[in-house]
Amino acid sequence: MPDRIYFDHSATAPLDPRVAFVMNLANVETFGNPSSLHSEGRQARELVDHARHQVAALLHATASEIVFTASGTEADNLALLGVFRLDSETTPGHLITSAIEHPAILETCRFLEHNGVQVTYLPVDQHGLVDPDDLARAFRPDTRLVSIMAANNVVGTLQPIADLSRIARERGVLFHTDAVQSAGKVPLDVTREPVDMVSISAHKLHGPKGIGALYVRSGVRLQPLIFGGGQEHGLRSATENVAGLVGFGSAAQLALADMTEEAVRLVQLRDHLLAGLQQALPQAYLIGHSFKRLPGHVCLGFAGQEGESIRLLLSLDEAGVAISSGSACSAHKASEPSYVLLAMGFDPIRARGTLRVTLGRFNTKSEVDRFLQILPQAVNALRPVASYGGFAR
Ligand code: PLP
Repeated sequence: MPDRIYFDHSATAPLDPRVAFVMNLANVETFGNPSSLHSEGRQARELVDHARHQVAALLHATASEIVFTASGTEADNLALLGVFRLDSETTPGHLITSAIEHPAILETCRFLEHNGVQVTYLPVDQHGLVDPDDLARAFRPDTRLVSIMAANNVVGTLQPIADLSRIARERGVLFHTDAVQSAGKVPLDVTREPVDMVSISAHKLHGPKGIGALYVRSGVRLQPLIFGGGQEHGLRSATENVAGLVGFGSAAQLALADMTEEAVRLVQLRDHLLAGLQQALPQAYLIGHSFKRLPGHVCLGFAGQEGESIRLLLSLDEAGVAISSGSACSAHKASEPSYVLLAMGFDPIRARGTLRVTLGRFNTKSEVDRFLQILPQAVNALRPVASYGGFAR
């Protein structure tokens, strides 16, 4: 689709052609089962091992600490259920998370609650930040796990993971972070930050869909969710998706190599977009933290036009721009207020109408400039609004 502008990288990022190339090669040339002992199998095993090293490097982990899964969702499920299904514990125990987690965490928490686990949902402030003092106060003698996302998928806010994980470590409690949105975009070094488990997903970093990983710090014990032939250290049985893993490894390597430069470039594009919007659309306001946010992530509200985000999204699509209203997972619930914005203190009307513009590797300044022409026209065509001077940076 020539000339279309893709600004929905938090939903998924297009496959990098360099990643597609190595995946194709693996698909065509390496069909063996990595568990087979013959040459074809050993060749496939080598590719899987190499990918494991590449993915581990992204987090400064060792390869043996990476468990490949079929998605970020599965990695999140494995982290939570894997801890709470350990049968050595006598009581179900207590889990601490935040109110703004992705459904992959929140729905797993609901399941655990039905099975006797008690869950504390920490509040967030108006920027979407968890207060470390709130975490410190939430521990109980039976707290077994803390799970707090590194970056929010709706508003892009980055949590203080170093501080939060340190608080859990001081109390001897495991700390998991869902880093699906932040991995490859902002650094996470497991040798410096005392996180015990990290979920990541290939398709958010220009890799293939349907491949994820859970970093599990050496020594942390988990119960598997999928039983079988014992692959992935017995934590995730199934014949490996070799080409997918090759793609994941390559995507992780590319993201790591350019992380700093790419973050600087995306912040510049984001700031250019925000400065342009301030001029062209005074009723637009930025949602989330002004700088503790993902480099390419902009979440916008439009004062007075909150009920119109779906119409706006569709009219932008017609004009050649792909963006989301809220998160991709909640797109079918777009007329409902966002639970993330409600938790941030927005009233139900303002919590309904957000536009999420998320930039990525192949976006250019000229695309942002085109968007700055298209968006005001689309917004102003909806219906007139009272003037509003509330652009928050
Ligand atoms: N966690 C977060 C924060 C996400 O944004 C997503 C996907 O949007 C997921 C988990 C789920 O990842 P996957 O799409 O690989 O299942």
